[in-house]
Amino acid sequence: MKKEEKVYVPMDNRLNDVKKYEVVKEKLRERGVELIQIAELTCELQKQYVKDITVETCLTHVERVVMKREVQHAILTGLELDILAEQNKLSEPLLSMLLGDYGLYGIDEVLALSIVNVYGSIGFTNFGYIDKLKPGIIGELDNAGKESGRCNTFLDDIVGAIAAAAASSIAHKYSV
Ligand code: MG
Repeated sequence: MKKEEKVYVPMDNRLNDVKKYEVVKEKLRERGVELIQIAELTCELQKQYVKDITVETCLTHVERVVMKREVQHAILTGLELDILAEQNKLSEPLLSMLLGDYGLYGIDEVLALSIVNVYGSIGFTNFGYIDKLKPGIIGELDNAGKESGRCNTFLDDIVGAIAAAAASSIAHKYSV
């Protein structure tokens, strides 16, 4: 029998960053996260350093972070793994580790660091801070992820990393 040839369906994977930004924003929304909620986290991180900082200003920086290609790719990868886990489409032992948000897995944080990386060391420290305290929507996502059939293992870290990266972007802009 003739070996079956693999057919590659050409996909539009050369979407420019602006188009991909819209896709990413919509995917985050489908997972229950609006960029404004991330901006609120950023505002909390920066308010003691930048006088009169507003959520609107923070949102501009969050949007700037999500416009970056490396960030978009990390978001798409993490969200997809959460979704595949919910659909039981991953194999063991990875499936159980993701569904149970296994504490020693750690790759969710590593992926998120690739987002923080783009904005330097202030992003790193802010990410660690957020990851530990789980303020606002991060805590909500963490709790929601514990419900059966729901997996937010990557999502909470991604959201924290975007907020931290935006805080770093602000710190660089307003530094004296
Ligand atoms: Mg996580």
